[in-house]
Amino acid sequence: MDKKRIYLSLSQQSGFEQAYVEKALETNWITSGGPNVDQFEKELEDYLKDESFITALNSGTSAIHLALILLGVNTGDEVICQSMTFSASANPILYQGGIPVFVDSELETWNICPENLEIAIKDRIKKGKKPKAIITVHLYGSPYKIDEIHAVADRYEIPIIEDSAEALGSSYKEKKCGTFGAFGILSFNGNKIITTSSGGALISNSFAIKEKAIFYANQSKDYAAHYQHSEIGYNYRMSNICAGIGLGQFEILNKNVITRRENHSFYKKVFQEIEDVKLFEVISDDYYSNYWLNTILIEPDKEKGINTESLRIAFENQNIETRPLWKPMHMQPIFEKYPYYGNKIAENLFEKGLCLPSGSNLTIEDKNRIKEVIEAFFD
Ligand SMILES: *Cc1c(COP(=O)(O)O)cnc(C)c1O
Repeated sequence: MDKKRIYLSLSQQSGFEQAYVEKALETNWITSGGPNVDQFEKELEDYLKDESFITALNSGTSAIHLALILLGVNTGDEVICQSMTFSASANPILYQGGIPVFVDSELETWNICPENLEIAIKDRIKKGKKPKAIITVHLYGSPYKIDEIHAVADRYEIPIIEDSAEALGSSYKEKKCGTFGAFGILSFNGNKIITTSSGGALISNSFAIKEKAIFYANQSKDYAAHYQHSEIGYNYRMSNICAGIGLGQFEILNKNVITRRENHSFYKKVFQEIEDVKLFEVISDDYYSNYWLNTILIEPDKEKGINTESLRIAFENQNIETRPLWKPMHMQPIFEKYPYYGNKIAENLFEKGLCLPSGSNLTIEDKNRIKEVIEAFFD
């Protein structure tokens, strides 16, 4: 295969990263925390607005873990989590010895379903335990039903942790994703909309909580000349080198969002005439998606040999990476023994769905190759 591989989602350098990293090296700020970390946090706070406080961490997973700790989730506590997501949304519940309770998606946003959420909460309370927190996800960059979900959570006074790992740059009614819950989290992993190579952030709404998060992320050192600890500590802080990469990346965040949305328009045109395929789109102008990944549902057709897997293979034969949607957590071997509330919506999406190349580095030639595969396949 001599054609270059087209990946699902690759990061792109801005060219500004190097200067920040070099400055860190020159000034010998090669540790966790430091001036780049402070500046990166400040820029994210200004970007997100709504009095957000950012704690920069070494991953999005660490951010979810710290949010659970800060909400007091402990052994045996139940935490509700959207089933259709990446495992990193749910794993930290197990780190705390908690019990994940999974909830199905709805068809309009593919995210957590308000009706099933309420059914789950009521049933858990009836069984004797009120869930301690709810982990919601803006899947593939598209906001969940914020008004409906937060109304349910507020009614039962359960705090929300908003997994915004895929949704930096997305918003709902012009308020940025990540700023709606008690906590929000971001990821700067290599495949996300901007990257720090590996990194994440915890979004909270007070300086005191931010300070407490830094305390935990920095090994829970009590105030003393010697090292003294009265709580479990974690090594979760972002390094000053990674934050330098983040500052360089931050300069192209808006550009990346525009490019990803242009990719979405490209797919819209390509699939316009193809009846067997439905491209995921937000349902109204209230929902602003960064379209981190473009996703389609394929109506299987036995006679024509059309299904998700045959299309995936057609792409693979041209060295183009695609991937099925996230396999729901309640179907995963590690999680299948935990409670689940739903009606097979996520299961159906998983069966019919495919993620398409959506990186901000897609070239016109790349798009032409993608288009050729699609046209030949559905011809
Ligand atoms: C990437 C991702 C995470 C985890 O972020 P890391 O920085 O890789 O730890 C969590 N949730 C979702 C939905 C993600 O896509």
